[in-house]
Amino acid sequence: MKYDIVVIGGGPGGAVAAKTCAEKGLNVLLIEKRSRIGDPVRCGELIPGYILKEFDIGIKDCYNEASNFEWVSPEKQKVCFNFLCYMLDRRVFDSDLVSRAEDAGADVWLKSRASGLIPGEREGKSVFSGIKISKYGENVDVRADIIVAADGVESQVGRMAGIDTSLKLKDIASAAAAVVKGVNTEEGVLKNYYLRDFAPGYLWIFPKGENKANVGVGFLPTKKIKPITLLKYYMKKMVELREGKICYYTSGGVPMALRLEKLFFKNILFVGDAARLSDPISGAGLSQAMVSGKLAADTAVKSIEYDDVNILKNYDWQWERKIYESWQFEQYTIKELFLSMDTYSRLKFLEGLWSTAARERVYPFRLSNVIKQRNTQLKLLKILIQNNRLRRWAALGEPLRWLRRRGASWKL
Ligand code: FAD
Repeated sequence: MKYDIVVIGGGPGGAVAAKTCAEKGLNVLLIEKRSRIGDPVRCGELIPGYILKEFDIGIKDCYNEASNFEWVSPEKQKVCFNFLCYMLDRRVFDSDLVSRAEDAGADVWLKSRASGLIPGEREGKSVFSGIKISKYGENVDVRADIIVAADGVESQVGRMAGIDTSLKLKDIASAAAAVVKGVNTEEGVLKNYYLRDFAPGYLWIFPKGENKANVGVGFLPTKKIKPITLLKYYMKKMVELREGKICYYTSGGVPMALRLEKLFFKNILFVGDAARLSDPISGAGLSQAMVSGKLAADTAVKSIEYDDVNILKNYDWQWERKIYESWQFEQYTIKELFLSMDTYSRLKFLEGLWSTAARERVYPFRLSNVIKQRNTQLKLLKILIQNNRLRRWAALGEPLRWLRRRGASWKL
């Protein structure tokens, strides 16, 4: 059996990649190890409105609009923003995306797990000529020109290919999300409550209409506590959640890392969480998964059209050109700064960020805000110097030029 493209993983990243390739007339197979797309839901289900527009996704009855975002610090300082978002039903959203790929002509296999890669050769170069799949427990080999690894946070494709894509413990946050009914939340208002002992970890309360909400916690792995235990604690503590009953909950890891140094390896393209593209402070990764799925697919189409595997390298700089690249490095630097502090200093630092953000009406987690906090400049410099990738990013001048413009007093 032979396909032009095999996509591993039926999340948003994989679905967009499969749809884009199939629309361009390629022969595409998407495999998903679960028996149902998008189930169980491991998500806060929040997506920016512009992404739905960019991908021409219609608003369904079960998607709720919300445009007021409130970030509340442990000392109850508030930063409020207006930003059009939608609360999704991820089961509906994910299956819808996969159906679009199917409608465009992609084959979709459920209960099919990628279990290995088949080494091969093309144009004198070592590549992977296909993948080994366990389909409903039966072993099937499928040949493919290009493989898209969209297998999420626990991605194993890198390991199968012989490269290290594992996450360090400090680069993975613990999170639990629950859909709760009977809550007393304000419709259209999204709330992030930052947690005193877990800064910059937070509790989110995202209303879904009809007194339902997606409620969850996410925090860096500095304290040994199960996320669901913490979530249940806050459900008792917060007035608006006290009467709530959990319909279902899930917990999982969220990459809080820098993206893979290379988003391709031989003829494999990594997208979404598998490529570690999510935001290292908020944990959000849906938009990045979809955008990277599209960019990877566009590159794969070109590579097949010109019958040139070298074209796959373009995917890397195409991602780099996107705003996410610099944003992720900035957010990662701030995350590392938090990790370098004890609980008390973190709390003070967070309150400092909030004071400036509330006064200047800016997003709290920006380097421009960080450098205004006392005692952080030296620590920041140390982090930029000690981490090779951050140093290279800093040496490109972008953050430095930008920090100096905003009054940083040191030189690198
Ligand atoms: P995934 O959605 O994880 O999809 C990967 C798929 O690959 C899965 O279906 C998996 O079953 C499949 N798979 C894995 N291995 C194999 C294999 N070997 N063979 C076949 N299939 C395989 N982001 C936001 O933007 N907004 C939020 O509100 C938000 N809240 C979150 C809350 C929690 C608790 C968590 C854990 C994450 C949250 N995120 C949020 C992050 C977001 O869910 C991910 O960034 C996004 O789902 C990444 O999409 P993806 O397609 O890369 O991977």
